[in-house]
Amino acid sequence: MYQAFLVKYGEIGLKGNNRHIFENALKNRVAEKLGSLGNYTVTREQGRIFVECPDGYDYEDTVEALGCVFGVSGYCPVKVVETTEWETVKQAVGDFVEEMYPQKKFSFKVAAKRADKHYPITSPEICAKIGEALLERFPGLSVDVHAPQEVITVEIRNRAYIYSKVLAGPGGMPVGTAGKAMLLLSGGIDSPVAGYMISKRGVVLEATYFHAPPYTSERAKEKVVDLAGIISRYTGPIRLNVVNFTDIQLAIYEKCPHEELTIIMRRYMMRIAEYFAKKSDCLGLITGESIGQVASQTMQSLLTTNAVCELPVFRPLIGFDKVEIVDIAQKIGTFETSILPYEDCCTIFVAKHPVTKPILPAIEKSEELLSDVIEELMKQAIETTEVIEVRA
Ligand code: ATP
Ligand code: MG
Repeated sequence: MYQAFLVKYGEIGLKGNNRHIFENALKNRVAEKLGSLGNYTVTREQGRIFVECPDGYDYEDTVEALGCVFGVSGYCPVKVVETTEWETVKQAVGDFVEEMYPQKKFSFKVAAKRADKHYPITSPEICAKIGEALLERFPGLSVDVHAPQEVITVEIRNRAYIYSKVLAGPGGMPVGTAGKAMLLLSGGIDSPVAGYMISKRGVVLEATYFHAPPYTSERAKEKVVDLAGIISRYTGPIRLNVVNFTDIQLAIYEKCPHEELTIIMRRYMMRIAEYFAKKSDCLGLITGESIGQVASQTMQSLLTTNAVCELPVFRPLIGFDKVEIVDIAQKIGTFETSILPYEDCCTIFVAKHPVTKPILPAIEKSEELLSDVIEELMKQAIETTEVIEVRA
């Protein structure tokens, strides 16, 4: 019953002179997203984006796809009437209510918009006459202009559009309007959520995963690829660097104090991720850290890990409780995959009593114990990195 969608956006409207850049990006992201579903026509017009659906399109798939495009604040399924001939339009609004609302018992008001100012009937007249016609046809309806349960909008353009339902979009900014960042993506709950949140602000994602075969399995890696696939529904394609971290971890394990294993390992992760980040023109790193969640995420630990990075490190979950992170993970569809029980490279090499208040100079001193091997190991890890192009 719907032939089109009207896409609304929020914040983009505030972008002043750059507004058209954001609008075009949003139009392109919508078109790309729907492109895999069929032959949709996406156009930009006066403060919104209009999507025309091909014959026989799948409504559910389309709704789901539009719900994944950052920058979309809301979207309305639209009934299109091919003519603006008044009696036909009036009849069509009645048919719309007939089909859309099984219980014809609600308060409403009619909103009218006329792009064509030569249309013989003014907007207030359109509202009044259609309101009247609806009341006559459906005795259970009532008019409430101040707090209606439903607003039925009728737009007169070269054709007539009728809509009343607004579906919530994810909000944010269209991907591609804010540069690129490198996500440190593990198989856990937090980092996919962190990537989602930064990408929601318009940032293109690249990702790096550290695995430690044979201590971590192929399935643990597949899980990370799957997680990247799930968030790429929103973020667009993600280039995933899979770094073989085993030899570096073994060297740290062999040479450094065990209570410092995790923190030193995290510092090497950040160094390698930053190497790839700079190589692909990323403007920052992203992690799923949150203050105090584990020993390696105390304020002192964060300071110590941060010290090896030159790029800014974005930690969108820094002030979040675990339950709040889980909520988002469930909403974006990563949670079920994240909790699959495959081992993580960090959990295998953890100490019984990791330091919770590492002191930077002490950690730097411990790292000197690696000095004769680490450069070569880093070089090997970088050279043997596998690149996987992940797309939804
Ligand atoms: P997550 O749920 O994201 O795995 P976590 O609670 O397990 O987080 P840590 O293991 O301390 O936390 O990791 C902190 C952050 O470091 C992660 O959010 C992620 O960004 C990064 N990280 C940890 N392990 C890896 C890994 N194997 N590969 C890539 N990044 C990692
Ligand atoms: Mg983890």
